[in-house]
Amino acid sequence: MKKTQFKAESKRLLEMMINSIYTQKEIFLRELLSNSSDAIDKMYYKALTDENLAFDQENYFIKVTADKEARTLTIRDTGIGMSKEELIDNLGVIAKSGSLAFKKENESKEGHDIIGQFGVGFYSAFMVADVVTVISKPFGSDEAYKWESTGADGYTVELAEKDSVGTEIILTIKPNTEDEKFDEWLETYRLKGIIKKYSDFIKYPIKMDTTSK
Ligand code: ADP
Ligand code: MG
Repeated sequence: MKKTQFKAESKRLLEMMINSIYTQKEIFLRELLSNSSDAIDKMYYKALTDENLAFDQENYFIKVTADKEARTLTIRDTGIGMSKEELIDNLGVIAKSGSLAFKKENESKEGHDIIGQFGVGFYSAFMVADVVTVISKPFGSDEAYKWESTGADGYTVELAEKDSVGTEIILTIKPNTEDEKFDEWLETYRLKGIIKKYSDFIKYPIKMDTTSK
């Protein structure tokens, strides 16, 4: 399949991010949860202005599932989802030049907090994952698409199967190295701890699939 290259500056920023030693890798989960929360918010606002659409609280949630055997961590939401074009536009351009400039100026400093503020949140997933797969079905469509990337070398987009509207982000967690253990991102207790820590920012229920291996 044809691989689309990231825009040049996105590529530089992504490489910088993947290779920098962030002291708090756990923020990737906060970033993905806040994106899911934003996506559910968008459904909520849609329902406010569309009388044919009810916002039934129990249908809106985020679910986190870890599968140690497959080495995947999945974050699924019932938010507004993304079309093929939105997957390309939103996930294909990593940061505006303003934030790249900021990053460059601050390269030598400890700067783990600037990720969220500059809209490069999604890409923090590459700190812990070597493959990121996004399967999404947007509200109002019956077509789903899969976006997949192994990092700075670009991404692919193809038609996919998905029953319900929303987004599923599947992280294939990196193998352990001599210097760094990535296994912790598949441990329920660790994930629960992070979720608890950041749950104040998230307005919707976060379910953790504890039956997974
Ligand atoms: P930011 O959240 O600051 O806009 P991100 O890098 O975190 O930057 O996300 C980029 C964009 O990708 C979001 O603005 C949104 O449009 C889209 N996006 C990311 N995750 C989701 C999701 N779970 N559901 C719908 N859209 C999403
Ligand atoms: Mg975000």
